[in-house]
Amino acid sequence: MNLWDDTLFYNPKERASLAHDIDADVVVIGGGFTGLWSAYYLKSLDSTLRIVILEGERIGFGASGRNGGWCSALYPTSAGYADIRPHLIESIDEIGSFAREHAPEVGFVKSGTITIARNRAQLARIQGATEPHQTYLSKGALLGRIGVKGALGGLYTPDCAVIHPGRLVRALAQYVENSGVTIYEKSRVETIEPSLVKTKTASVRANSIIKATEVFSQNPRSHAPIYSLMVATEPLSEEIWNEIGLAHRETFSEALHLVNYGQRTIDNRLAVGGRGARYLFGSKLRAKREMEYRVHQEIIELVHKWFPALKRAKFTHRWGGAVSIPRDWHPYINWDRTSGIARAGGYSGDGVTLSHLAGKTLAHLILEKEHPITALPHVNWRNPLWEPEPLRWLGVNGSVLATDLADREEDFTRRPSLIAKTLNSFIRV
Ligand SMILES: Cc1cc2nc3c(=O)[nH]c(=O)nc-3n(C[C@H](O)[C@H](O)[C@H](O)COP(=O)(O)OP(=O)(O)OC[C@H]3O[C@@H](n4cnc5c(N)ncnc54)[C@H](O)[C@@H]3O)c2cc1C
Repeated sequence: MNLWDDTLFYNPKERASLAHDIDADVVVIGGGFTGLWSAYYLKSLDSTLRIVILEGERIGFGASGRNGGWCSALYPTSAGYADIRPHLIESIDEIGSFAREHAPEVGFVKSGTITIARNRAQLARIQGATEPHQTYLSKGALLGRIGVKGALGGLYTPDCAVIHPGRLVRALAQYVENSGVTIYEKSRVETIEPSLVKTKTASVRANSIIKATEVFSQNPRSHAPIYSLMVATEPLSEEIWNEIGLAHRETFSEALHLVNYGQRTIDNRLAVGGRGARYLFGSKLRAKREMEYRVHQEIIELVHKWFPALKRAKFTHRWGGAVSIPRDWHPYINWDRTSGIARAGGYSGDGVTLSHLAGKTLAHLILEKEHPITALPHVNWRNPLWEPEPLRWLGVNGSVLATDLADREEDFTRRPSLIAKTLNSFIRV
């Protein structure tokens, strides 16, 4: 079971499904962070709006309820990032204010993130990429914060907080509901046309429609769903935490080419995730991919390399979900006034903070309220389509394999990977 669902310490609320045709001002499809922050900002800007959220499963079913809990200023592409970064930092702080005021159980702590180098190639990469807001950590300084075996140095980035995502998504749903938003669960939208969305049983008529279904979006060429898998240990003893460190609950990762991410949870477990699962032909989503034994084992082996003391610890939870990767890795926050349809997504695994910025941006665009965020580069962005199959399958899976090989190459040669150099000009996963 997903760790976050298993550590809510309350039974999540179950809501009714849409049974009758209704009217609203705005209908939101999808009850994850994008849909909920959109509703939150729409209501804060105009408390009289009638807003309905239709969630196909239960609140938190999607990536918002399963992720690694990094609330970071990461952005999947460098295009436009200089303009976007200050707004992501503001979003982290606004999520923090919400959590502190309405959901302290989320355990929001903004202590930054640490990137660890465990071979010379990784060290050269982080030294070469250090930005003015980041601090290079010598081996001694790094080990004072995180006791990783074989570490040579690291990089500290202050703009990252840690959260319990399952608690945040549910607290946010409860908050918007208390402000007058109506949420229906088990209400899968089957058709969308201007001013009308239909589920199997009933419909909602509304002038504005927000599609907030990210990786569940229907067009298979608009994005590649890539599975990211996670494991978590049992709560660890103080003795082990004294060895590992992370006294301030900084998030962390190793500077591998293959994405990996870790956090010390609010109940003192270690939760770690990583990519490496194969992409499914036709951009399909399959629940069994969330439990791919090989990938979970590889993540556990990585954890054992970092922290040998954890060979004695139990891994109590394994789960996963898919992230949505557009062909150009560019997130989109789009509003078409003519059709009245908005959509946001393509966060490529960086959606915890981005979904907040997206929801806030959509609310301002729909209500025609001026704000600098409505002019950011990702607004009304047009992503190119992915190649048709089988080219997409070959390209994405080739890249997953090559990324893994690049890390092995660096581990062996200690020099920056030639495979990665070639790969970067094509695609990364
Ligand atoms: C394992 C994992 C780890 C991750 N780690 C991080 C991290 O540490 N930091 C970070 O920034 N990002 C991370 N991400 C990405 C991040 O979680 C997502 O980008 C973000 O949560 C997306 O939010 P969303 O609301 O757009 O989509 P979702 O949370 O996926 O919500 C979409 C909702 O739409 C519903 N839906 C779908 N189709 C329909 C329909 N037809 N009708 C009605 N409802 C529908 C779904 O049931 C779902 O609840 C991770 C993702 C995964 C899977």
